This record gives sequence, structure tokens and C-alpha cells, in this order.
Amino acid sequence: MYDLLLKGGHVVDPANNRNGRFDIAIRDGRIARISPDIARSEAAEVLDVSGLLVLPGLVDIHVHASSEFQGPVAHRMLALAGVTTAMDMAGPIDDVLAIAREHGAGINLACLNRVKPGEMVDSADPSAKELRDGIAAALDRGALGVKIMGGHFPLTPEANGRVFEIANELGAWAAIHCGSTENRSDLTGLREALDLKGRNHVHIAHINSYCRGAVKDPQLEAIQAIEWLTEAENLVTESYLAVINGTSGICIDGIPESDRTRACLQQGGYPATEEGLRRAILEGFGRVNVIEGDRAVLRTGPEAVAVWEAAGTNVGISFPVNPPMPRLMLAAARDRAGRFVVDALATDGGGIPRNFTISAGLRLVELEVLTMADFVLKACTVPARLLGLTAKGHLGEGADADVAVVDAAAAEVRTTIAAGQVVAHHGVVTGRSTRIITLERGRKAVEAAGLQPIVTDLAESGFYKPHTA
Ligand SMILES: [Zn+2]
Repeated sequence: MYDLLLKGGHVVDPANNRNGRFDIAIRDGRIARISPDIARSEAAEVLDVSGLLVLPGLVDIHVHASSEFQGPVAHRMLALAGVTTAMDMAGPIDDVLAIAREHGAGINLACLNRVKPGEMVDSADPSAKELRDGIAAALDRGALGVKIMGGHFPLTPEANGRVFEIANELGAWAAIHCGSTENRSDLTGLREALDLKGRNHVHIAHINSYCRGAVKDPQLEAIQAIEWLTEAENLVTESYLAVINGTSGICIDGIPESDRTRACLQQGGYPATEEGLRRAILEGFGRVNVIEGDRAVLRTGPEAVAVWEAAGTNVGISFPVNPPMPRLMLAAARDRAGRFVVDALATDGGGIPRNFTISAGLRLVELEVLTMADFVLKACTVPARLLGLTAKGHLGEGADADVAVVDAAAAEVRTTIAAGQVVAHHGVVTGRSTRIITLERGRKAVEAAGLQPIVTDLAESGFYKPHTA
């Protein structure tokens, strides 16, 4: 007897060369059988998914699920968006674990701990010793690796290079939001990060965000980025499809703390000051991230200014700063051998309300920018390989029963299943716990936090081994 039968759906699973009508039987959290016809009588429960797409659960390697980014609702928003596995790209790890335990929605989550001056390290130019101790401590507390937040809390270029080196020595995941004390988070920051990484394995986040027209026309910037990425080795990349970004509203002495916030204001024609930010929110260019009910939403106008002021300016803010052509080009670009230049479709979403991989990604399929199989590769299969999760990102027999059931015409998720359990169905979240993807050395800390670990070996993952699709 199977636990659950998904009956009559259109399965897209490029890893197993399936693209057609199949029934999927689930038992003990895994795909037990996949076949053109499995009798209803063989399952305790049957979900009729005829007319719907059945995809592997989305694997989003760039999300936010910490207190700063509406963590309490982030898990629910991910489950509703069809995401079954995600990676928080900032931490701090202790905060992400606490929220995962309290507000879990049944999904799997990894966490990168940010290398922030005043937090993990003392200054913008930490020594190798300080970095080694800080990174090792984060891994021992359950983090999968670390992230440099060069657009928000920049380090010196030399310190960026040391972070890459040490994270690689420790077999951890190393990621960067490009930027340093010398170069901004734009095409110059991207070039700098590529030069600093040398032969090290590094994840460069949200490539589209370096193509906003700061250096030249956004389309030419995307062409340049694609050329550089095509030449680079040992690189993991993602891009997202949303027009809005996500940054901080914090102002200190009348000036936005984050260089990204200042750059966005300039891009929108506003002064890069607290007063400029106030006007931007009032006029709708700055959109305050607000929790309303069980999700985060974007708010503008006088009410949003009041929220921002009441929080002492400490709120998340989004600006419509991502031009369309770089988003399209980076999602679709291939090298001469036909391989995708950017590995994965991610969102930089989670608690930032832009979990658009299904809603925007299926539009790309409709426009034939991507085939449906390509879409699944970039949104599910490849990112699972990058994380070393061989039982995820596909729907072969024996795989984890992580599934997204999608209405293609509406470009909406109907049902999300993780480890064989329905975690979201028709807008209602039923998942509760969180499993944490960690290294062997983080297992104890995850268990001590009351969470179930999924141990991955990055040495065997696409992060450290070839992963082209
Ligand atoms: Zn991010």
C-alpha cells in the first residue's frame, strides 16, 4: 500500500528523461513508483492532479529566512511558492535555526552565515586567523558556509580573497554578493570578485543585480557578465526574475547605512539620504516589506513611511531597479557547448515578497525563452546537485518525495509536497517542521537546536565538482 498517489499529472523530470503523463506513488517519504497507470486502490490517499504539472520541488539557493527578512513568514511563503529546499543567504545561523524551529513549514533549509564586520569579525579587514576561527565556528553551529555581503557590509578586497581561500580549505560553501571597500556592487564588483577568487570554488549571487546600468547600458552589462562567466571556472551562479530588489531601510546620521540603498535611490533620481528615502517611500519607488497576516507584502505611501519611522528605520525595503533585459538574458544564456552560463534560477526571496520562480519562470517557458525541461533543470535539478543532494531535484524511483504541483496556465502552485507530506495545498500551509542541510561537523548543533539534520558532503557536490547542465 502506498501512502499517497498523485494521479494523472503531467510529469516534467529531465534528470530521468520524463516529460508526459505519469502517476507517482509515494511511500515513507520517497517516490516508490512512477508509471503511466497506478490503480487508485493501491494508495491510502489519492490526489487527482490531472491537468496539472508535476515537477520536482523547487530548490532555491538564494532566499532569506532570518528575523531581518520577515523570517517568521518566510517558511510559509516558500512552501506556498513550491519551494521544498532553500538556502538562506545571510544568517546569522543561530537566528535562522531559531526561526526554523518556531515557524517551520515542512521544508529543507541550508544557511550561509554572513561575514559582517562587528558581527562575525571585528573590522572590514579581518586577518586570516580571525576569519578561520569565525568560519569554523559558524560551520560548527550548523552553517553550510559563509557569504560576503559586499553590497551592504563590504570587506577589503584582500579580506574577500581570504574568505574564499579559507572557506575552500574548510570544504565549506563560499558565496559573495559582489562589492568591497574598493568596488561597488555592480559590474566592477563582479570583475573584482572573479579576479579575487582565483582557482577557489565560489558562488556569486544574483548576477542580474550587477547589470542595472551603473557602468553602461544594462543590456551591454549583461553581455559583458555572460562573457566573463563563460570564461570563469569553479563558479556557481544564480539570477532572479523579479523587478524589485531587497535591501535595508536603516539610516544612521541621516544617511542610509547600506550602499545598495544609496545606489537604488540614485538610480531612481532621489538623493542618497534619509530624506530622499522618505520621499521615495512616499512616492512609491521605495516599498517597505511589511508582515501582514501570514505573509510579507510591499507597502508605500504615508502608512509605509509611518511603519519605517516606528521601526527606527530598521525595515526591509525593495526598489524596482532590475531592468528586464539582463533578467531575461541571464536566465537564458548558454555557452558555445549549449550549457547554461548561469547555473540556477533563484529568487533572493523567502521573506522578501518575490518568490517568483514559478510565476515568472513559466512565462519564460510560454515565450519559449526556456523549454519546460530547461526550467526544471535550472529551478530544481541543478541546484539540488550543487548542494550535493542526490535524492532531490528529480522524481526518479527512490528519490525524496519533494514535489510541486503547478497550474501551468495560471502559473501558480497548487500543492507542495516535501518528504511525502503535503506542506501547502491551495494556499493553506500545513507543514510544520524544518530539516536543516548541514555539514557533518554541524550535525550536533542542528540536533541540539531541536531540528532534524540532512548532512551533505560538499566535497562530492556540484559546488566542488563539475555540475554543468
Ligand atoms: Zn540575498
